[in-house]
Amino acid sequence: MKFHSTNKKSKNFSLPEILCKGLAPDGGLFMPDRWPKMPKDFFAKLESLSFRQIAFSVAKNFTNEIPAKKLKAIISDAFNFPAPLRQIGPNLFVLELFHGPTMAFKDFGARFLARSLGYFLQGQKTTLNIIVATSGDTGSAVASGFFNVPNIKVFILYPSGKVSPLQEKQLTTYGGNITALEVKGSFDDCQKLAKQVLSDTELNKAMPFSSANSINFGRLLPQSLYYFWACAQLKALGLNQPPVILVPSGNFGNLFAGLMAKKMGLPVYKFVAATNINDIVPKYLQTGKFGAKKSKKTISNAMDVGNPSNFARILELFNGDYKLMGQNIAGYRVTDRDTKKTIKSIYQKTKYICDPHTAVGVTAAIRFKGRQDERPIVVLSTAHPAKFREIVERVVNKRILLPKQLRRAMKKKKRSVCIKNNYQDLKKVLLQNV
Ligand SMILES: *Cc1c(COP(=O)(O)O)cnc(C)c1O
Repeated sequence: MKFHSTNKKSKNFSLPEILCKGLAPDGGLFMPDRWPKMPKDFFAKLESLSFRQIAFSVAKNFTNEIPAKKLKAIISDAFNFPAPLRQIGPNLFVLELFHGPTMAFKDFGARFLARSLGYFLQGQKTTLNIIVATSGDTGSAVASGFFNVPNIKVFILYPSGKVSPLQEKQLTTYGGNITALEVKGSFDDCQKLAKQVLSDTELNKAMPFSSANSINFGRLLPQSLYYFWACAQLKALGLNQPPVILVPSGNFGNLFAGLMAKKMGLPVYKFVAATNINDIVPKYLQTGKFGAKKSKKTISNAMDVGNPSNFARILELFNGDYKLMGQNIAGYRVTDRDTKKTIKSIYQKTKYICDPHTAVGVTAAIRFKGRQDERPIVVLSTAHPAKFREIVERVVNKRILLPKQLRRAMKKKKRSVCIKNNYQDLKKVLLQNV
């Protein structure tokens, strides 16, 4: 498979090149030149396949630079946890994507990207540096996924005081090849700094950088896999109608991964993008105008994004036609108040506890369900409620036990380097690591 940039100037890149660059030289995002169509017999027996079998059949279309045997090993090592579909209402399901080591769906993308990069860098003498901006979950998934991968150093930019105490522990306690940089600023500032690092030619000559944010295509390919898996599990329950899939969204990497699956032939009736009050994309779907804004702080903080980075990819998929986009994607904006109401009402009705991000999705699902009742709706559950227990415990009035991987992180000592929200400051700190 060859890749081009959404800005159209950079073309003809291979998979190892795009994983090692992250961002295209013209500043755009990498896209595959074509969309492979999964064959009819793959869909005919979908319900009989395991997650890893599905993953291999889909991923191999993009990864001819990785031998089949190696790809299978990467897949079974990266996806060593389950992703069960659970029913929480009539025709209403959640796909739990939080059973990985950091308990958010970002483990799928980070673990696959780390292992693929590790394969391509094997035996090389140079070090690849990874810069990543996080509002919380990306940093921990990337730290956990890349910890001790040879030939890779990771720098995590996170906004000081704006991630949960647990998230902070999860991303500042690894040490080794992982450095946490605490920025006096917002997540958008961190994202901007990361972009500056990637496009600084002088710095990249001294130390080459790639990204582990969802601007790196290597995070999105693995995320497209669980959309097939959701449909496989529905079919196993005898539900064969194309579902509605609801995606709690911030930078829109996850939603784009769903659109990829549909491009490859997965029958999905509609995608629903659920955001918190940072509602740039739902507004766009209504008006055709994309108004990036400063992000506002909410209780679903991993979705506090004012300028969603994967929007350029979604635009390219629909040739910039917002009406066509609107036929495929509906958008909803959910306030913190409604998010909490949903956590409470789902708990009271079913005893199921959603984290705030999942609850944004469930709120939108309930609103969308009002318009149609016969199709299955699947909400992607993006984080374990214990990750956000300060909020969730107060809403459901019940203690939530920390799973053991999170308890372990809480006991470790935080180590971070504080930097001002200033590119020169950051560059100086990075160059000390050449
Ligand atoms: C990152 C994240 C999201 C948003 O995903 P995008 O791909 O950025 O749209 C939603 N929920 C949780 C828990 C996250 O960590």
